[in-house]
Amino acid sequence: MSATRIIDKKKLADFLETLSSDCEVIIPTVEDGNLLFSELGSSKLEDSFKGRPIVSPKEYLFPQKEKILAFDTTDKVNVDIKAYTNDKKRVIWGIRPCDLHGIKTLDAIYLSDFVDTYYQARRKNTIMMGLNCNEPCETCFCNSCQTGPFASEAYDVVFTDLGDKYLVKVGSDAGQEAVDKIPNLFAEATNDDEKKAGELEEKSKQSFQRKVDVDVAKQNLPESWDDALWAEESEMCILCGGCNFTCPTCHCFNIEDVQCGEKASIRMRYWDSCQLGGFTQMAAENTRENQAARLRQRIFHKYIYTPDKYDGAIGCTGCGRCIEVCPVNIDITHILGRVASK
Ligand code: SF4
Ligand code: SF4
Repeated sequence: MSATRIIDKKKLADFLETLSSDCEVIIPTVEDGNLLFSELGSSKLEDSFKGRPIVSPKEYLFPQKEKILAFDTTDKVNVDIKAYTNDKKRVIWGIRPCDLHGIKTLDAIYLSDFVDTYYQARRKNTIMMGLNCNEPCETCFCNSCQTGPFASEAYDVVFTDLGDKYLVKVGSDAGQEAVDKIPNLFAEATNDDEKKAGELEEKSKQSFQRKVDVDVAKQNLPESWDDALWAEESEMCILCGGCNFTCPTCHCFNIEDVQCGEKASIRMRYWDSCQLGGFTQMAAENTRENQAARLRQRIFHKYIYTPDKYDGAIGCTGCGRCIEVCPVNIDITHILGRVASK
């Protein structure tokens, strides 16, 4: 990869606009007071923001709702089946380090023993451009999860906001190709630029308001299986599913056939939520019969089952979205803190 570079902040829009000539460019933007990802062109680029967008960029790789195939049974022997895929080329700029890790987790889940071809088609056509976090927000705890606030992997290109310019590091051939499209926008970074980025990283690490002892919590979790804490912590849950739907690593889905003609149907898949009672409802019984069991599943899945299955990496990035979105203040850092103190 090339040496570290810099780009003047005023030239970022030129860079992204040039990239948009042959692909869709997704950027962070503010809509109705909320920070969201949306398409360049229809929205104004938000290039200096605190924390992360309220919904992760997961939706561009694994949409909340998608058509996976259509079928027509007019001919009962030779059923006509058409698969949908989406291989639109995309660049997503402004992905926080926690969300880069979220995508790394989804890659492990969807591209390893079972390959999800719908995810795979989007993923291989997406260039991920990160933006390091100079100022985490109140609910963030990525530092405890080793996923932030600055990215050391899982990016094609990563930017660090140095005030009037960005430090730019390239992490892949695809990232290099993107940067090389307009080389005159970039200049070699100086030692002072690198030094300033290092100071910003240190300052950011010192500014977290939440800290979780992840190793101790993981170690104590198996012993907490029958603890009263699951019932106590889940008591106020209203089963809205917001914690799952905003999570960058939650990946469960439901599949439904929607009839759209006498013999024709479309097979859809939708995000699902382990916090909803119907998630484990079967004909004879519900295997997670109460909210305590469902909350325990959410935490065990992130901190025990995912690392057990995928090389030790936990399935929580510490992005804090589930804390921020929960209408009844159920807080994963508080729960892990209770487990760690047992
Ligand atoms: S469990 Fe919560 S803090 Fe962890 S990645 Fe999901 S939304 Fe973020
Ligand atoms: S966001 Fe809160 S209330 Fe909603 S399902 Fe999750 S824990 Fe329950």
